[in-house]
Amino acid sequence: MTQQKNNRRGGGNHTGDCCSFCGAKRADVEILFQGMEGANICNKCIENGHRILLDNEVVDRGPKAAPLKQEELLKPRQIKSFLDQWVIGQDEAKRAMAVAVYNHYKRLMAKTEAEEVEIDKSNIVLVGPTGTGKTLLARTIAKLLKVPFTIVDATVLTEAGYVGEDVESILSRLLQVADYNVAEAERGIVFIDEIDKIARKGDNPSITRDVSGEGVQQALLKILEGTTVNVPPQGGRKHPDQKFIQVNTRNILFICGGAFDGIEKKIAQRLNTHALGYGRVKTEQVDRKNLMKYILPQDLRSFGLIPELVGRLPVLTFMQPLGREALLRILTEPKNAIVRQYERLFKMDGVELRFEPEVLEYIVDKAVEFKLGARGLRSIAEAVMTDAMFELPSSDEKQFTVTLAYARDRFERANLAQLKQVG
Ligand code: ADP
Repeated sequence: MTQQKNNRRGGGNHTGDCCSFCGAKRADVEILFQGMEGANICNKCIENGHRILLDNEVVDRGPKAAPLKQEELLKPRQIKSFLDQWVIGQDEAKRAMAVAVYNHYKRLMAKTEAEEVEIDKSNIVLVGPTGTGKTLLARTIAKLLKVPFTIVDATVLTEAGYVGEDVESILSRLLQVADYNVAEAERGIVFIDEIDKIARKGDNPSITRDVSGEGVQQALLKILEGTTVNVPPQGGRKHPDQKFIQVNTRNILFICGGAFDGIEKKIAQRLNTHALGYGRVKTEQVDRKNLMKYILPQDLRSFGLIPELVGRLPVLTFMQPLGREALLRILTEPKNAIVRQYERLFKMDGVELRFEPEVLEYIVDKAVEFKLGARGLRSIAEAVMTDAMFELPSSDEKQFTVTLAYARDRFERANLAQLKQVG
Protein backbone atom coordinates (compact mmCIF):
# COMPACT_ATOMS: atom_id res chain seq x y z
CA MET A 1 0.00 0.00 0.00
CA THR A 2 1.30 3.44 -0.78
CA GLN A 3 0.22 6.64 0.78
CA GLN A 4 -0.54 9.88 -0.97
CA LYS A 5 -0.96 13.09 0.94
CA ASN A 6 -3.82 15.25 0.02
CA ASN A 7 -2.94 17.33 -2.95
CA ARG A 8 -5.76 19.78 -3.17
CA ARG A 9 -4.53 21.22 -6.40
CA GLY A 10 -4.40 17.80 -8.04
CA GLY A 11 -8.08 17.35 -8.88
CA GLY A 12 -8.83 14.86 -11.68
CA ASN A 13 -11.69 12.41 -11.94
CA HIS A 14 -10.20 8.99 -12.56
CA THR A 15 -11.20 6.19 -10.14
CA GLY A 16 -7.96 6.35 -8.13
CA ASP A 17 -9.00 9.64 -6.68
CA CYS A 18 -11.57 8.73 -4.08
CA CYS A 19 -11.97 6.36 -1.14
CA SER A 20 -13.32 3.01 -2.28
CA PHE A 21 -15.14 2.61 1.07
CA CYS A 22 -16.88 5.92 1.77
CA GLY A 23 -16.47 7.57 -1.58
CA ALA A 24 -14.82 10.70 -0.16
CA LYS A 25 -12.75 12.61 -2.69
CA ARG A 26 -9.02 12.98 -2.25
CA ALA A 27 -9.50 16.71 -1.77
CA ASP A 28 -11.78 16.09 1.22
CA VAL A 29 -9.55 13.76 3.25
CA GLU A 30 -6.18 14.07 4.94
CA ILE A 31 -4.54 10.99 3.47
CA LEU A 32 -5.68 8.56 0.81
CA PHE A 33 -3.92 5.19 0.91
CA GLN A 34 -3.59 3.44 -2.45
CA GLY A 35 -4.15 -0.29 -2.69
CA MET A 36 -4.16 -2.78 -5.54
CA GLU A 37 -6.09 -2.29 -8.76
CA GLY A 38 -7.10 1.29 -8.12
CA ALA A 39 -8.64 0.63 -4.67
CA ASN A 40 -8.10 3.36 -2.05
CA ILE A 41 -8.91 3.92 1.57
CA CYS A 42 -9.00 7.26 3.38
CA ASN A 43 -7.74 7.99 6.90
CA LYS A 44 -11.28 8.34 8.26
CA CYS A 45 -12.25 4.84 7.13
CA ILE A 46 -9.07 3.43 8.67
CA GLU A 47 -9.90 5.17 11.96
CA ASN A 48 -13.44 3.80 11.88
CA GLY A 49 -12.14 0.34 11.17
CA HIS A 50 -9.70 0.61 14.06
CA ARG A 51 -12.48 1.63 16.42
CA ILE A 52 -14.53 -1.40 15.38
CA LEU A 53 -11.53 -3.66 15.97
CA LEU A 54 -11.06 -2.13 19.45
CA ASP A 55 -14.74 -2.51 20.33
CA ASN A 56 -14.65 -6.14 19.32
CA GLU A 57 -11.40 -6.65 21.20
CA VAL A 58 -9.65 -7.82 18.07
CA VAL A 59 -6.76 -5.47 18.92
CA ASP A 60 -5.50 -4.42 22.38
CA ARG A 61 -6.38 -1.10 23.99
CA GLY A 62 -2.79 -0.86 25.06
CA PRO A 63 -0.39 -3.02 26.96
CA LYS A 64 -1.99 -4.97 29.78
CA ALA A 65 -0.51 -5.40 33.21
CA ALA A 66 1.42 -8.63 33.68
CA PRO A 67 -0.64 -11.14 35.66
CA LEU A 68 0.27 -11.60 39.33
CA LYS A 69 0.56 -15.19 40.46
CA GLN A 70 -0.31 -16.24 43.99
CA GLU A 71 2.52 -18.77 44.16
CA GLU A 72 5.09 -16.14 43.24
CA LEU A 73 4.06 -13.77 46.01
CA LEU A 74 6.18 -13.44 49.08
CA LYS A 75 4.38 -13.94 52.38
CA PRO A 76 4.56 -11.15 54.98
CA ARG A 77 7.18 -13.09 56.95
CA GLN A 78 9.35 -13.44 53.86
CA ILE A 79 8.94 -9.75 53.06
CA LYS A 80 10.03 -8.90 56.60
CA SER A 81 13.11 -11.11 56.44
CA PHE A 82 14.07 -9.43 53.22
CA LEU A 83 13.69 -6.01 54.87
CA ASP A 84 15.80 -7.25 57.79
CA GLN A 85 18.75 -7.68 55.46
CA TRP A 86 18.80 -3.98 54.64
CA VAL A 87 17.12 -2.12 57.47
CA ILE A 88 18.12 -2.35 61.12
CA GLY A 89 15.41 -2.55 63.79
CA GLN A 90 12.03 -0.92 63.12
CA ASP A 91 10.20 -4.21 63.55
CA GLU A 92 6.76 -2.66 64.02
CA ALA A 93 7.02 -0.66 60.82
CA LYS A 94 8.43 -3.60 58.87
CA ARG A 95 5.57 -5.85 59.92
CA ALA A 96 2.98 -3.23 59.04
CA MET A 97 4.61 -2.64 55.65
CA ALA A 98 4.92 -6.34 54.91
CA VAL A 99 1.25 -6.95 55.65
CA ALA A 100 0.08 -3.89 53.72
CA VAL A 101 2.09 -4.78 50.63
CA TYR A 102 0.99 -8.41 50.78
CA ASN A 103 -2.65 -7.35 51.09
CA HIS A 104 -2.20 -4.96 48.23
CA TYR A 105 -1.23 -7.87 45.99
CA LYS A 106 -4.06 -10.01 47.27
CA ARG A 107 -6.46 -7.19 46.59
CA LEU A 108 -5.20 -6.91 43.03
CA MET A 109 -5.58 -10.64 42.49
CA ALA A 110 -9.00 -10.83 44.09
CA LYS A 111 -10.20 -8.25 41.62
CA THR A 112 -9.25 -10.31 38.65
CA GLU A 113 -10.99 -13.31 40.13
CA ALA A 114 -14.14 -11.22 40.70
CA GLU A 115 -14.46 -12.15 44.35
CA GLU A 116 -17.58 -11.03 46.15
CA VAL A 117 -16.02 -9.26 49.11
CA GLU A 118 -14.16 -6.21 48.00
CA ILE A 119 -10.97 -5.67 49.94
CA ASP A 120 -10.24 -2.08 50.96
CA LYS A 121 -6.93 -0.42 50.28
CA SER A 122 -4.58 -0.30 53.22
CA ASN A 123 -2.65 2.90 52.66
CA ILE A 124 0.06 3.37 55.25
CA VAL A 125 1.45 6.29 57.20
CA LEU A 126 4.92 5.95 58.73
CA VAL A 127 5.69 8.41 61.51
CA GLY A 128 9.17 8.92 62.92
CA PRO A 129 12.14 11.24 63.26
CA THR A 130 14.18 11.97 60.16
CA GLY A 131 17.05 9.61 59.46
CA THR A 132 15.42 6.59 61.08
CA GLY A 133 14.95 4.71 57.84
CA LYS A 134 11.53 5.63 56.45
CA THR A 135 12.78 6.23 52.93
CA LEU A 136 15.18 3.32 53.22
CA LEU A 137 12.30 1.04 54.14
CA ALA A 138 10.28 2.24 51.16
CA ARG A 139 13.23 1.88 48.79
CA THR A 140 14.00 -1.58 50.08
CA ILE A 141 10.47 -2.79 49.65
CA ALA A 142 10.60 -1.45 46.10
CA LYS A 143 13.44 -3.89 45.37
CA LEU A 144 11.18 -6.87 45.70
CA LEU A 145 8.04 -5.47 44.22
CA LYS A 146 6.59 -6.65 40.99
CA VAL A 147 4.62 -3.43 40.57
CA PRO A 148 5.85 0.06 39.69
CA PHE A 149 7.04 2.09 42.65
CA THR A 150 8.00 5.70 43.07
CA ILE A 151 8.97 8.14 45.82
CA VAL A 152 7.64 11.69 45.75
CA ASP A 153 8.13 14.60 48.08
CA ALA A 154 5.01 16.27 49.46
CA THR A 155 6.81 19.58 49.98
CA VAL A 156 6.85 20.36 46.26
CA LEU A 157 3.12 19.83 45.93
CA THR A 158 0.83 22.80 45.90
CA GLU A 159 -2.77 23.49 45.22
CA ALA A 160 -3.56 24.14 41.56
CA GLY A 161 -2.76 27.73 40.73
CA TYR A 162 0.11 28.10 43.20
CA VAL A 163 3.82 27.90 42.40
CA GLY A 164 4.97 24.30 42.62
CA GLU A 165 3.74 20.98 41.28
CA ASP A 166 0.13 19.91 41.02
CA VAL A 167 -0.79 16.89 43.06
CA GLU A 168 -1.41 14.95 39.85
CA SER A 169 2.33 15.06 39.14
CA ILE A 170 2.69 12.26 41.70
CA LEU A 171 1.11 10.01 39.12
CA SER A 172 3.33 11.29 36.31
CA ARG A 173 6.26 9.80 38.18
CA LEU A 174 4.48 6.49 38.51
CA LEU A 175 3.64 6.50 34.82
CA GLN A 176 7.27 7.16 33.96
CA VAL A 177 8.42 4.24 36.11
CA ALA A 178 5.81 2.04 34.43
CA ASP A 179 7.11 3.04 31.00
CA TYR A 180 3.78 4.73 30.36
CA ASN A 181 1.95 1.44 30.66
CA VAL A 182 -1.22 2.79 32.27
CA ALA A 183 -2.49 -0.60 33.42
CA GLU A 184 0.79 -1.21 35.29
CA ALA A 185 0.82 2.27 36.81
CA GLU A 186 -2.75 1.79 38.00
CA ARG A 187 -1.65 -0.93 40.41
CA GLY A 188 1.58 0.65 41.56
CA ILE A 189 2.79 1.90 44.93
CA VAL A 190 3.64 5.53 45.71
CA PHE A 191 5.71 6.62 48.70
CA ILE A 192 4.87 10.21 49.64
CA ASP A 193 7.65 11.58 51.79
CA GLU A 194 7.31 14.53 54.20
CA ILE A 195 3.55 14.27 54.37
CA ASP A 196 3.69 16.26 57.63
CA LYS A 197 4.81 19.34 55.70
CA ILE A 198 1.35 19.78 54.20
CA ALA A 199 -0.32 19.75 57.62
CA ARG A 200 -2.43 22.68 58.62
CA LYS A 201 -0.48 24.86 60.99
CA GLY A 202 -2.08 25.40 64.35
CA ASP A 203 -4.95 23.61 66.01
CA ASN A 204 -7.78 25.87 65.12
CA PRO A 205 -8.59 25.42 61.45
CA SER A 206 -10.82 28.49 61.16
CA ILE A 207 -8.29 31.02 62.43
CA THR A 208 -4.78 29.90 61.62
CA ARG A 209 -5.24 27.46 58.82
CA ASP A 210 -2.62 27.22 56.20
CA VAL A 211 -4.79 27.44 53.13
CA SER A 212 -2.38 25.92 50.65
CA GLY A 213 -1.56 23.04 53.00
CA GLU A 214 -5.20 22.16 53.40
CA GLY A 215 -5.85 22.54 49.68
CA VAL A 216 -3.08 20.07 48.93
CA GLN A 217 -4.53 17.67 51.46
CA GLN A 218 -7.93 17.92 49.77
CA ALA A 219 -6.38 17.26 46.36
CA LEU A 220 -4.39 14.35 47.75
CA LEU A 221 -7.49 12.94 49.38
CA LYS A 222 -9.21 12.56 46.01
CA ILE A 223 -6.26 10.64 44.63
CA LEU A 224 -6.04 8.42 47.70
CA GLU A 225 -9.75 7.67 47.62
CA GLY A 226 -9.62 6.47 44.05
CA THR A 227 -10.60 8.57 41.10
CA THR A 228 -9.74 9.04 37.47
CA VAL A 229 -7.09 11.70 37.17
CA ASN A 230 -5.86 13.58 34.12
CA VAL A 231 -2.14 13.18 34.45
CA PRO A 232 0.37 15.38 32.64
CA PRO A 233 2.74 12.71 31.24
CA GLN A 234 5.86 14.82 31.79
CA GLY A 235 4.87 16.00 35.26
CA GLY A 236 5.23 19.53 36.51
CA ARG A 237 2.39 21.97 36.16
CA LYS A 238 -0.72 21.29 34.16
CA HIS A 239 -0.65 23.11 30.92
CA PRO A 240 -3.67 23.81 28.76
CA ASP A 241 -1.95 22.59 25.60
CA GLN A 242 -0.57 19.44 27.16
CA LYS A 243 -2.14 16.07 26.39
CA PHE A 244 -3.19 14.15 29.47
CA ILE A 245 -3.17 10.48 30.24
CA GLN A 246 -6.10 9.21 32.29
CA VAL A 247 -5.09 7.19 35.31
CA ASN A 248 -7.46 5.54 37.75
CA THR A 249 -6.06 5.54 41.28
CA ARG A 250 -8.46 3.01 42.78
CA ASN A 251 -5.81 0.31 43.05
CA ILE A 252 -2.73 2.41 43.72
CA LEU A 253 -1.28 1.89 47.19
CA PHE A 254 -0.01 4.97 49.00
CA ILE A 255 2.62 4.89 51.72
CA CYS A 256 3.14 8.22 53.45
CA GLY A 257 6.10 9.12 55.63
CA GLY A 258 6.76 12.08 57.85
CA ALA A 259 8.77 13.22 60.87
CA PHE A 260 5.79 15.00 62.44
CA ASP A 261 8.11 17.06 64.62
CA GLY A 262 6.50 17.83 67.93
CA ILE A 263 3.77 15.20 67.65
CA GLU A 264 4.97 13.71 70.93
CA LYS A 265 3.49 16.76 72.65
CA LYS A 266 0.09 16.00 71.15
CA ILE A 267 0.43 12.38 72.21
CA ALA A 268 1.39 13.40 75.73
CA GLN A 269 -1.54 15.80 75.94
CA ARG A 270 -3.92 13.09 74.87
CA LEU A 271 -2.43 10.57 77.29
CA ASN A 272 -2.78 13.06 80.13
CA THR A 273 -6.29 14.18 79.36
CA HIS A 274 -7.86 10.97 78.15
CA ALA A 275 -7.90 8.90 81.25
CA LEU A 276 -10.65 6.78 79.79
CA GLY A 277 -11.67 5.45 76.43
CA TYR A 278 -9.91 4.16 73.35
CA GLY A 279 -6.14 4.52 73.40
CA ARG A 280 -6.00 4.68 77.16
CA VAL A 281 -2.69 3.85 78.78
CA LYS A 282 -2.22 3.85 82.53
CA THR A 283 -0.31 7.04 83.29
CA GLU A 284 2.22 5.35 85.52
CA GLN A 285 3.06 2.84 82.77
CA VAL A 286 3.72 5.41 80.06
CA ASP A 287 7.18 5.23 78.57
CA ARG A 288 7.80 8.98 78.48
CA LYS A 289 11.03 8.62 76.54
CA ASN A 290 9.30 6.99 73.60
CA LEU A 291 5.84 8.46 73.29
CA MET A 292 5.71 7.71 69.59
CA LYS A 293 4.66 4.14 70.24
CA TYR A 294 1.32 5.37 71.59
CA ILE A 295 0.49 7.24 68.40
CA LEU A 296 -3.12 7.12 67.23
CA PRO A 297 -4.87 8.56 64.17
CA GLN A 298 -6.32 11.37 66.28
CA ASP A 299 -2.79 12.62 66.96
CA LEU A 300 -2.28 13.11 63.24
CA ARG A 301 -5.46 15.14 63.25
CA SER A 302 -4.26 17.30 66.13
CA PHE A 303 -1.06 17.78 64.18
CA GLY A 304 -2.99 19.25 61.27
CA LEU A 305 -3.97 16.50 58.86
CA ILE A 306 -7.60 16.73 57.86
CA PRO A 307 -9.75 13.92 59.27
CA GLU A 308 -10.72 12.62 55.83
CA LEU A 309 -7.07 12.18 54.90
CA VAL A 310 -6.29 10.42 58.18
CA GLY A 311 -9.26 8.17 57.48
CA ARG A 312 -7.74 7.21 54.14
CA LEU A 313 -4.52 6.11 55.81
CA PRO A 314 -5.76 3.22 57.92
CA VAL A 315 -2.39 1.67 58.70
CA LEU A 316 -0.51 3.90 61.13
CA THR A 317 2.92 2.82 62.27
CA PHE A 318 5.99 4.47 63.76
CA MET A 319 9.75 4.42 63.54
CA GLN A 320 11.91 4.12 66.65
CA PRO A 321 14.61 6.68 67.26
CA LEU A 322 17.99 5.03 66.62
CA GLY A 323 20.20 4.61 69.66
CA ARG A 324 23.96 3.93 69.80
CA GLU A 325 23.53 0.21 69.45
CA ALA A 326 21.36 0.55 66.35
CA LEU A 327 23.84 2.99 64.79
CA LEU A 328 26.68 0.53 65.39
CA ARG A 329 24.71 -2.22 63.72
CA ILE A 330 23.91 0.08 60.79
CA LEU A 331 27.63 0.53 60.19
CA THR A 332 28.28 -3.16 59.73
CA GLU A 333 25.17 -5.31 59.38
CA PRO A 334 22.97 -4.26 56.45
CA LYS A 335 23.74 -5.85 53.09
CA ASN A 336 25.19 -2.58 51.87
CA ALA A 337 26.54 -1.42 55.24
CA ILE A 338 28.99 1.45 55.08
CA VAL A 339 31.89 -0.71 56.32
CA ARG A 340 31.16 -3.37 53.73
CA GLN A 341 31.14 -0.75 51.01
CA TYR A 342 34.60 0.50 51.97
CA GLU A 343 35.91 -3.06 52.17
CA ARG A 344 34.66 -3.69 48.67
CA LEU A 345 36.15 -0.47 47.31
CA PHE A 346 39.57 -1.32 48.76
CA LYS A 347 39.38 -4.91 47.61
CA MET A 348 39.07 -3.69 44.03
CA ASP A 349 42.55 -2.20 44.51
CA GLY A 350 43.79 -5.45 46.03
CA VAL A 351 43.85 -4.01 49.55
CA GLU A 352 42.37 -5.82 52.50
CA LEU A 353 40.70 -3.27 54.76
CA ARG A 354 40.10 -3.67 58.49
CA PHE A 355 38.50 -1.37 61.05
CA GLU A 356 39.44 -1.60 64.71
CA PRO A 357 36.19 -1.95 66.67
CA GLU A 358 36.98 1.29 68.55
CA VAL A 359 36.87 3.14 65.23
CA LEU A 360 33.26 2.13 64.71
CA GLU A 361 32.44 3.23 68.25
CA TYR A 362 34.18 6.52 67.54
CA ILE A 363 32.15 7.13 64.35
CA VAL A 364 28.92 6.42 66.22
CA ASP A 365 29.96 8.73 69.08
CA LYS A 366 30.57 11.56 66.65
CA ALA A 367 27.22 10.97 64.92
CA VAL A 368 25.52 11.14 68.32
CA GLU A 369 27.58 14.13 69.46
CA PHE A 370 26.74 16.15 66.34
CA LYS A 371 23.14 14.90 66.44
CA LEU A 372 23.49 13.60 62.89
CA GLY A 373 21.84 10.23 63.42
CA ALA A 374 22.23 7.46 60.85
CA ARG A 375 22.50 9.99 58.06
CA GLY A 376 25.72 11.32 59.58
CA LEU A 377 27.52 7.98 59.76
CA ARG A 378 28.40 8.10 56.11
CA SER A 379 29.85 11.63 56.13
CA ILE A 380 31.89 10.94 59.25
CA ALA A 381 33.22 7.70 57.76
CA GLU A 382 34.01 9.56 54.57
CA ALA A 383 36.01 12.19 56.48
CA VAL A 384 38.00 9.38 58.09
CA MET A 385 38.59 7.43 54.89
CA THR A 386 39.22 10.06 52.21
CA ASP A 387 43.01 10.21 52.65
CA ALA A 388 43.35 6.44 52.57
CA MET A 389 41.19 6.24 49.48
CA PHE A 390 43.44 8.83 47.85
CA GLU A 391 46.78 7.29 48.79
CA LEU A 392 46.33 3.53 48.79
CA PRO A 393 45.57 2.91 45.11
CA SER A 394 49.06 4.25 44.25
CA SER A 395 50.90 2.32 46.97
CA ASP A 396 52.04 -1.31 47.26
CA GLU A 397 50.15 -1.91 50.51
CA LYS A 398 48.11 -5.09 50.55
CA GLN A 399 46.52 -4.46 53.91
CA PHE A 400 45.23 -1.42 55.71
CA THR A 401 43.91 -1.22 59.25
CA VAL A 402 42.05 1.85 60.40
CA THR A 403 43.08 2.49 63.99
CA LEU A 404 41.39 4.76 66.47
CA ALA A 405 44.32 7.19 66.42
CA TYR A 406 44.19 7.35 62.63
CA ALA A 407 40.39 7.87 62.57
CA ARG A 408 40.53 10.56 65.23
CA ASP A 409 43.34 12.39 63.47
CA ARG A 410 41.64 12.36 60.04
CA PHE A 411 38.24 13.29 61.41
CA GLU A 412 39.56 16.19 63.46
CA ARG A 413 41.51 17.50 60.50
CA ALA A 414 38.50 17.26 58.20
CA ASN A 415 36.37 18.80 60.86
CA LEU A 416 38.81 21.67 61.27
CA ALA A 417 38.83 22.25 57.54
CA GLN A 418 35.04 22.35 57.53
CA LEU A 419 35.00 24.77 60.43
CA LYS A 420 37.46 26.99 58.58
CA GLN A 421 35.24 26.91 55.53
CA VAL A 422 32.24 27.95 57.58
CA GLY A 423 34.31 30.69 59.28
P1 ADP B 1 14.17 9.08 56.79
O1 ADP B 1 13.48 8.82 55.51
O2 ADP B 1 13.52 8.43 57.97
O3 ADP B 1 14.47 10.52 57.05
P2 ADP B 1 16.36 7.65 55.57
O4 ADP B 1 15.69 6.37 55.26
O5 ADP B 1 16.53 8.62 54.45
O6 ADP B 1 15.61 8.39 56.76
O7 ADP B 1 17.76 7.34 56.25
C1 ADP B 1 18.94 8.00 55.92
C2 ADP B 1 20.09 7.01 55.82
O8 ADP B 1 20.41 6.53 57.12
C3 ADP B 1 19.76 5.78 55.01
O9 ADP B 1 20.12 5.93 53.67
C4 ADP B 1 20.59 4.70 55.67
O10 ADP B 1 21.90 4.71 55.19
C5 ADP B 1 20.65 5.12 57.11
N1 ADP B 1 19.61 4.49 57.94
C6 ADP B 1 18.62 5.12 58.60
N2 ADP B 1 17.88 4.27 59.31
C7 ADP B 1 18.39 3.05 59.10
C8 ADP B 1 18.05 1.75 59.57
N3 ADP B 1 17.03 1.54 60.40
N4 ADP B 1 18.81 0.71 59.15
C9 ADP B 1 19.85 0.90 58.30
N5 ADP B 1 20.23 2.11 57.84
C10 ADP B 1 19.52 3.19 58.23
